[in-house]
Order: sequence, then structure tokens, then C-alpha cells
Amino acid sequence: MTTLLEVRDLKKHYPIRKGLFSKLTGAVKAVDGVNLTVLRGETLAVVGESGCGKSTTGRAILRLIEPTDGEILFDGTDVRSLGPEALRRMRTQMQMVFQDPYASLDPRWTVRQTLEEPFATHMPELAGAELKDRVAELMEVVGLSPYHAHRYPHEFSGGQRQRIGIARALAMNPKFVVCDEPVSALDVSIQAQVLGLMQDLQERFGLTYMFISHDLSVVKLISDRVAVMYLGKVVELAPTKDLFANPLHPYTKALMSAVPVPNPAQRRERVILRGDVPSPENPPPGCAFHTRCPVATDICRQEVPALREISPGTQAACHLV
Ligand code: SF4
Ligand code: MG
Repeated sequence: MTTLLEVRDLKKHYPIRKGLFSKLTGAVKAVDGVNLTVLRGETLAVVGESGCGKSTTGRAILRLIEPTDGEILFDGTDVRSLGPEALRRMRTQMQMVFQDPYASLDPRWTVRQTLEEPFATHMPELAGAELKDRVAELMEVVGLSPYHAHRYPHEFSGGQRQRIGIARALAMNPKFVVCDEPVSALDVSIQAQVLGLMQDLQERFGLTYMFISHDLSVVKLISDRVAVMYLGKVVELAPTKDLFANPLHPYTKALMSAVPVPNPAQRRERVILRGDVPSPENPPPGCAFHTRCPVATDICRQEVPALREISPGTQAACHLV
């Protein structure tokens, strides 16, 4: 598979200002040097505890928020160098599905209005019956009846609302969709339906997904590869089956030890991490995980471990791997 997206040393720092004269006192390093690649047609899951920078990474890649530093190469285009007009055109290729469709859909707009909006922005020549047909087609593609196009978001269930959010993201035939916890607000039975739909759509339209999630059982089901984030950095990136069978980074090992497995013989000893995730305002020096790592040594407190290839296709950022 070829590379669709390459992210190098991506940073998003939020300045902190305090006091009467709003003096700059530091920065929250929400994303602090993320490196990853997304291959054409795959689903790359991005996992980690809340606050590790997953959503910020997704939004910064699409420039829904402006990155502080780093490189984003999408299909040969340097996304950070795009001016407003070129970025607007690029948005037809890179879309986002949000966690809470209720918050991301305008409650005053009917489904028709919501789904017509991308066409009005990017294909203003489309109108009348043709536009109506496109909206109907989009609704059918995500399993909704076009007869309900005149309804408002509150008239739909949570799962149906997420289908509307997916239809909106697909309107312009994107190549790449960042899905930010797309099913975590839904009941488990509905989750499976929406995930199944997303997999069908991926196959049908050749989509590439970045799937942000904290739910490892969902990640195991849907992803080809996984990037594990801790305090604004990717600490391990590996094929899903390898990561679940043989996690390398001590943080990944701890995450994996909490996943229930059906076969008790395969159960790993539960690794309980001490302490909380440190503040991204003041991350620990050296390896940011050293304050909680059960195997940290002296070098861990001094040197930042680089994300490096451990075996073909597997990368980890740890001095001891
Ligand atoms: Fe633990 Fe050191 Fe590896 Fe960081 S570099 S994960 S502290 S062993
Ligand atoms: Mg999030």
C-alpha cells in the first residue's frame, strides 16, 4: 500500500497567558511532535487516554485548527502551505466525522439543508432536480430513507444522526476521513451497525480512515494499524494484530493488559499504572512516560526516546525496546 498522508513532527501548542498584562507564561503542549503515516485504503486507529492529543492531532491535520509546527503531506500536497482558497478545495478530499452528531449538526437545518450545504459551497452549479437526486443518493448510501429529508436532527435517533454526519462527510467524495470517536456516544448494538456501515463505505468508495478512539475493542475490530499516543506524541505504531498480540512499548502493554480476552490462558497480568497523566503544560523531561513507567531507568529521565523502526512496519519510542 502506498502512503496517502504523512505527518512529521506535528505540534499544537496553546499559549498560556496570565496576569493583568496577559503575560505569556508557558504553553499547553496538546500535540508535541506527532509522527505517523496513513496508507491508502487503510484504517489507522489513533488510541490513548483522554487528553493525549488524539482529537487535536486529527483536527490539526485537516487544519480545522492551525498547527504550531510540523509537516502534513497529503497525497503529495503540503497542506500547511495552502492558502484559504486551495484549503477550501482540499477540504473536499479530507473530511471529518465527529463524536457527537447532535452537536455537529445544525438543529435548525433539515437533513436536506445539511446535505445540500457542501454542494452549495463546492459545486454551486448543481441545482434543482439534480441536487435533490444527489441528496437522496447520499441518504440511501448511509441507509436512510430520502423521504425523511425534510426532517430535523431531533427527529432522528442517535445512530441515524451519525449516519447523517457520515453522509455529509461523504458528499464531496473525499479520499480521507478523520473519524473522531464516531460511535462512542451510541449504544453498543447501534455501534456495531454504524461500524459495519463505515466498513462497507470504505470498501465501496475506497476511503482511507483515521479512526480516533479510546475503545480498544472497537479498534481491534475496525483498524488495520494502530498509533498509540501518550502526552502529545505517538509512542508506538504497529499492525493491529501485532499490537494486540505483542505490544512493545510499556505504555501500550499497560493499555493492552486492561483489555478483556475470551481465552483465560492468554490473559496477561494486569499492569496498573501509578499516578495520573502529567499535565501537558509541563510534561516530564526525557521520556514523558517515565513518571509512570514500571521499567524506567536513568536514561529515561534525561533523553527523549525517538520513534524508531523496531521491525518492518512496527515503530516504538522507548529506550528499552
Ligand atoms: Fe519506560 Fe524508559 Fe521506555 Fe519511557 S523510555 S517507556 S520510561 S522504559
Ligand atoms: Mg477527544
